[in-house]
Amino acid sequence: MGSEPHIERKAAHAPAWRPDWDTYFLKLAMLASERATCPRMHCGCVLVKDNHVLSTGYNGSLPGTPHCYDVGCLVVDNHCVRTNHAEINAICQAARHGQALAGATAYVTNLPCTACAKALIAVGIVRVVIFSDYHDSLAEQFFQESGVALDRLKMPSAEIHYDLSSFSSARPFDEE
Ligand SMILES: [Zn+2]
Ligand SMILES: [Zn+2]
Repeated sequence: MGSEPHIERKAAHAPAWRPDWDTYFLKLAMLASERATCPRMHCGCVLVKDNHVLSTGYNGSLPGTPHCYDVGCLVVDNHCVRTNHAEINAICQAARHGQALAGATAYVTNLPCTACAKALIAVGIVRVVIFSDYHDSLAEQFFQESGVALDRLKMPSAEIHYDLSSFSSARPFDEE
């Protein structure tokens, strides 16, 4: 016989580090950036609607082609042009899977470049959230003209809080 259902007040509050939605999606963008294939830039982008992740992207080479990390950057006018930027890759990933982006929010590790800003606007992104800036970008001007909200938030902690030992029903693989 099991015990009667009961309320266990293990802790009165969630941990202080429990992220709000914006922080959560920015952290996901930071995580996506870990997949970047170019040493000149690590950027991540997460496209979200109704707190639901529609698509993710990082700056990376075209599918099936060599990475900058393996063959070196392809530099034109002091920019590496081998990769698609994170925002473009997130949009392309959505297109591949038939995912409409109108009304979505873009969480990006940095201010989009001019080209990515225009693409985000054209696919219907209505809000862009960033935690760092980018050089030589007309993004702000284009966002303003198109009525896209731009929110600059504090960079979230890069730490991931997961303490396997504190969860009574979870066991590491190496434990008997
Ligand atoms: Zn590169
Ligand atoms: Zn870009």
